[in-house]
Amino acid sequence: YDAKGRGDNLAVYAPEADHNSPERLSLLADLRKALESTGDTGIALYYQPQVELATGEVVGLEALLRWQHPERGLVDPEELIKVAEHSSVMRLLTFRVIDDAIDQLAAWAEGPDGGAAARVRVAVNVSVRDLHTGEIADRIAAKLRQTGIEPERLELEITESALMADPRRVLATLARLDRLGIAIALDDFGTGYSSMLHLRRLPLKEVKIDRSFVLGVATDPDDAAIVRSMIDLARALGLRIVAEGVEDERTWRMLVEAGCDLAQGWYFARPMPPDRLLDWLTRHRRSTVAHTA
Ligand code: C2E
Ligand code: MG
Ligand code: MG
Ligand code: MG
Repeated sequence: YDAKGRGDNLAVYAPEADHNSPERLSLLADLRKALESTGDTGIALYYQPQVELATGEVVGLEALLRWQHPERGLVDPEELIKVAEHSSVMRLLTFRVIDDAIDQLAAWAEGPDGGAAARVRVAVNVSVRDLHTGEIADRIAAKLRQTGIEPERLELEITESALMADPRRVLATLARLDRLGIAIALDDFGTGYSSMLHLRRLPLKEVKIDRSFVLGVATDPDDAAIVRSMIDLARALGLRIVAEGVEDERTWRMLVEAGCDLAQGWYFARPMPPDRLLDWLTRHRRSTVAHTA
């Protein structure tokens, strides 16, 4: 696995973030081409299970972008987003990801073997700039209507650092999404200096404790204390709490004890393409039933 721990593929191409490098421009041009064409473009969503700690049940999935570039190989999603975020391509990418995720929910709702995923919620990552206008809410509302998927099945994740940089700029869109019934999650919680006031006033449903804090929970008393207080704070504000990056059993146990609601991480499962996910869900469900029987 690569240094950044992205275990589901081997070689990862990381574009340089230098703004106007020819590298970057050609990557963005390729991405735009891929997004504008139909058929197999190498763009896919992988899904990572979110497990409810009290029951062991999978109640959610996080959709994560994977782009297999024809020459460069798998592109590092985090770096790609950093590069795309400053370009008009971001809007196309976000709409593609949202459309694909909702189409996937619809396919699971219909298909005979979709049973294992027929009721889960899917969380999609969006860039804060996608929320500067209300267009995203219109798109989502139209897509949900067209597919008959309930808004409660969709969730949007926004990183804390981006959201807290200028919360007022996105408040109107967040409020509209909230009225539509779409949950908003604060991603990478702990890395972005939330003000208590904004935590209380923004229409948030969930916080996702950043992996960097979760990492040391079983071994470092300071990390454990920080995570406990993050959980207590989120609890006091009535927010659902998800821990990201849970890699071992000791961490999982500590999170259960601290009162965390949900967890995702390699300890449970890595992000997977939809077909593998269905197999995994079926097997997981059987073992959950066996444990609780
Ligand atoms: P994120 O939203 O915080 O996603 C969690 C990242 O942690 C994912 O990396 C996931 O594969 C990884 N991960 C999950 N469990 C574990 C674990 O137990 N250990 C370790 N070491 N890592 C784990 P990924 O897929 O490379 O995505 C990186 C970031 O790129 C995401 O961070 C998100 O900010 C962004 N991203 C990914 N897909 C999209 C997308 O469709 N749209 C936008 N706007 N951003 C995206
Ligand atoms: Mg996320
Ligand atoms: Mg995160
Ligand atoms: Mg993170």
